[in-house]
Amino acid sequence: MSGAAAYDGHVTDDSEINRVLAITAHPDDIDFGAAGTIAVWTEAGIEVSYCIVTDGDAGGFDLAFPRSEMAALRRAEQTAAAKCVGVHDVRFLGYPDGQVEATLDLRRDLARVIRQVRPDRVVASSPERDYLRIGRSHPDHRAVGSATLDAVYPDARNPFAFPALLAEEGLEAWTVPSVWIMGTASPDHYVDVTATFARKIAALRAHESQHPHPEQLEGRLRQWLGGTAAAAGFPEGHLAESFRVLDTS
Ligand SMILES: [Zn+2]
Repeated sequence: MSGAAAYDGHVTDDSEINRVLAITAHPDDIDFGAAGTIAVWTEAGIEVSYCIVTDGDAGGFDLAFPRSEMAALRRAEQTAAAKCVGVHDVRFLGYPDGQVEATLDLRRDLARVIRQVRPDRVVASSPERDYLRIGRSHPDHRAVGSATLDAVYPDARNPFAFPALLAEEGLEAWTVPSVWIMGTASPDHYVDVTATFARKIAALRAHESQHPHPEQLEGRLRQWLGGTAAAAGFPEGHLAESFRVLDTS
């Protein structure tokens, strides 16, 4: 089972997809939310790029670790994590962790990356606050989710939005046909990641500075993704990641 495309008529089949761009706020967001799915895609020959808006410089738990070195460490961790799931194009925008707002500057910067990568599918964080899972709704996640959707529509596809992108950088307008929102309280699509779970765990483990109890990681994730698979109606013992898929064509 490579997904739930059989009953999800609104989801374009992976065989018609060449390029995916995942946009998240922090190093590790994509790995918690979607690394199993990313591995399914890269194994199918789809090219995946990451755009990480901050360097995660406010992350970690070790008060003794010098803050000035955190950004470089987290970039290295995210780059290593990406390789675990077949992703070799990781772009960092360098916004300060914990202070992201959905500004016009961020929309322009995301529209730039979208026009550079020209993805068939964008993976985004949710702009909505989830009252049941407060950690998912980090203000940076919501800001980046909101700016991503605004960059998808209208900025990236409108040649008259941020005209310098075309006039000075030669970046032509690009329409992203669909957006997969991860970490949403209202998913409508599930991907079976049982076969790529080990690669997801390897990617998560690469974020060494973020795990005070790395030995608990796999059990926690197995429980979480098992619950998602059960909600999807997948067979006992399967693992899944969930998304809300938007038609943005
Ligand atoms: Zn985050």
